[in-house]
Amino acid sequence: MTENSPTLHKAGSPAGPSDRPGGEVALDVRGLKKIYRGSGNEVEAIRDLTFEVRRGELVCIVGPSGAGKTTLLRCIGGLLDRTSGEVVLDGASVTGPPPGMAIVFQEYGRSLFPWMTVRQNVELPLKEKRVGKAERTRLVDEALEAVGLTESAAQHPWQLSGGMQQRVAIARAVAYEPSVLLMDEPFAAVDAQTRADLEDLVRKLWRRLGVTVLFVTHDIDESVYLGQRVLVLSNRPTVILEDVAIDLPDERDQLGTRSSARFGELRHHVYELVQQAKKGYRPETD
Ligand code: ADP
Repeated sequence: MTENSPTLHKAGSPAGPSDRPGGEVALDVRGLKKIYRGSGNEVEAIRDLTFEVRRGELVCIVGPSGAGKTTLLRCIGGLLDRTSGEVVLDGASVTGPPPGMAIVFQEYGRSLFPWMTVRQNVELPLKEKRVGKAERTRLVDEALEAVGLTESAAQHPWQLSGGMQQRVAIARAVAYEPSVLLMDEPFAAVDAQTRADLEDLVRKLWRRLGVTVLFVTHDIDESVYLGQRVLVLSNRPTVILEDVAIDLPDERDQLGTRSSARFGELRHHVYELVQQAKKGYRPETD
């Protein structure tokens, strides 16, 4: 390995505490397996996934289409039963949607209530969490300001562009002050320019709020631009192909970072891994 080559963890071996700077574990996924059982047939979506995410980390997950990325996020979010294995959030086993998690989905159009204003949409989970009125107002104001939507608070989602609607969904997740924020291909349905803006928004919020983020994408460049680590998944039944450390500076920008030599190397490496995954390559330990 040359000095400039990506820092890699051995294929199939999860990144352990000794591999990275210390920090409390926020999310612990251990031996996760998911088999879908339908009428007479079985689909083994996830074979065996083990990894940790430390508090305040931003971890991206990439892999071929059908690799089980959405399945993984739904198992972690308690929206789908696991076949075996464990998901532990802040020391407690996840058995249903945990109070400490928020999820941003791809389909912003379906995740917002059209009859509610932007403010009401962002406020709703806080009401369900029984946060008092004054605190709710403060959290909503802060979240709307952070995503640049203060002026749109009284509008309805259908009066906004797709990118703005996704900002509302992000504001709603952030206002909730989750321990872990799960994002499932959140920018797949917006145009390229909006996507770049939203990527920068996620980086900005992550750095400002110190929230732990698990970000699923099929876009290799996006994963390298956003993440501190990129977990590359094999094709189905899914295992981790590699846990790639993204050693780019924390200060990132769309032009400078993406045109840097290091970004190119990391992108190239992750691209090759995903190509291998598509061809069915699996780690020896599988
Ligand atoms: P990705 O998000 O990586 O594209 P998914 O998690 O959506 O992958 O799907 C992983 C695999 O599980 C795919 O082969 C998919 O067809 C299968 N799958 C997903 N949902 C179901 C389901 N409800 N019933 C049966 N198979 C499913």
